[in-house]
Amino acid sequence: MNQYVMALDQGTTSSRALLFDQRGEVVATDQYEFTQYFPQPGWVEHDPLEIWQSQLRAARGVLEKAGVGADRLAAVGITNQRETTIVWERASGKPIYPAIVWQSRQTADICETLRQRGLEEEVRARTGLLIDSYFSGTKVRFILDAVEGAQERAEAGDLCFGTVDTWLLYQLTAGRVHATEYSNASRTLIYNIHDRDWDDLLLGALRIPRAMLPEVRDSSGVFGSVAQELLGAEVPITGIAGDQQAALFGQGCVSAGMVKNTYGTGCFLLMNTGVEPAKSESGLITTLAWGIDGRVEYALEGSVFVAGATIQWLRDGLGLIESASDSEAAARAVPNTGGVYLVPAFTGLGAPYWDEHARGIIVGLTRGTTREHLIRAGLESIAYSTRDLVDCMARDSGLSLETLRVDGGACRNDFLMQFQADIIGCTVERPQLLEVTALGAAALAGLGAGFWRDRSELERSTGPSTRFEAACPADERAALYAGWQEAVRRGRSSLS
Ligand code: ADP
Repeated sequence: MNQYVMALDQGTTSSRALLFDQRGEVVATDQYEFTQYFPQPGWVEHDPLEIWQSQLRAARGVLEKAGVGADRLAAVGITNQRETTIVWERASGKPIYPAIVWQSRQTADICETLRQRGLEEEVRARTGLLIDSYFSGTKVRFILDAVEGAQERAEAGDLCFGTVDTWLLYQLTAGRVHATEYSNASRTLIYNIHDRDWDDLLLGALRIPRAMLPEVRDSSGVFGSVAQELLGAEVPITGIAGDQQAALFGQGCVSAGMVKNTYGTGCFLLMNTGVEPAKSESGLITTLAWGIDGRVEYALEGSVFVAGATIQWLRDGLGLIESASDSEAAARAVPNTGGVYLVPAFTGLGAPYWDEHARGIIVGLTRGTTREHLIRAGLESIAYSTRDLVDCMARDSGLSLETLRVDGGACRNDFLMQFQADIIGCTVERPQLLEVTALGAAALAGLGAGFWRDRSELERSTGPSTRFEAACPADERAALYAGWQEAVRRGRSSLS
């Protein structure tokens, strides 16, 4: 009888489950959306029970769709929206507060206090992160403040903290296992990525008791078993990683210098830097990629705030296109942008500029500028922003990039991928199977269960990839990129 690995892909807007066969191919998927709560401007919350219920429903649904019983599952893997924070009662498994989502800015004040106490350098040195409400630590503080008596109960060991992986693991094992792994722990702001332990100085600064923290384990290996009553059979849970690290693994970026970029609403660029953490001079994040057989690997991470969202803006804000995919034909209808650059700094600029007051700008307009020029400039902006990050990574790591592996909705755009190769001067490689995040979780789980012996068994599972080779002469590349940098400079809040 064939056996399968199930990946649970718990995202920001939906919970998915995918079934992979021995060859690493997807045989069935199921997916359910859940409610987004916006209780105040800038706040984003989820109902932890709805996350769990939708995930369980997807797990049952995918088995049903494939006509497979849980007894034919070799392993379950989990990948999840990162940083989102849940606190629940250890005894009952009941959350004491909604899940505070990674996007939520509700802990900005707590972050400001940490900054005023001069903790910025300590945080960077110990966690590889920046003080920002994005990460989990200040969200835990917020919950302990918001719920009467929670601090005392946490100190007494009656409450559990977890990121979404930990929450799902707890529910799946019917409360038997309270654990996480390196990639998720490294997003909490309270985990020391060098000592590989929760950090006492930062726990003290945020008054978070150790008694509520999960045990941190390897990303691949036995975490526990799915309780019999949930799926009808006990299945080992043997792989966990946060979504971006899972995608890095799923893309096969398993040695130092390998880079993947996910082109969604924003972009997430991760470079594997091997067993040594790279310190960033340009404001990138240093993070744990995963731990396997007691050996951890690190990554550098950068993000572009507005990427595919630029194309949504061209569509919905300006009405220049009907669908995102129409952008490709429009961009190809002109040989270049006619000197137009669009810098979509709608919410400020991230690495390497870090200017929250910068705003979007379009430069180089002439009487001859057309719709097609603007659309092309919008697509090109995604590639330029990615090049900005690639340059930071190369500088910070001392590793040069030869191939960029891509995934995410907007990587389907061939024009964008070719321009990306041209403007970095590297090869862009797009796998046929774009489910690399789920594949990464399945791979960690399948390896952890001994279902696959080696990552290389999965090399072909993403199908033949499409390669885009750089075709642009070096001087032209330099001139185009210089134009982008000048356009960004003009969009900055203070001209220098
Ligand atoms: P997310 O997971 O962030 O919701 P997806 O990976 O689903 O994002 O990708 C959707 C994004 O990609 C949208 O912002 C959309 O504008 C953009 N997009 C989708 N298809 C294309 C395309 N063919 N060309 C350019 N952009 C695209």
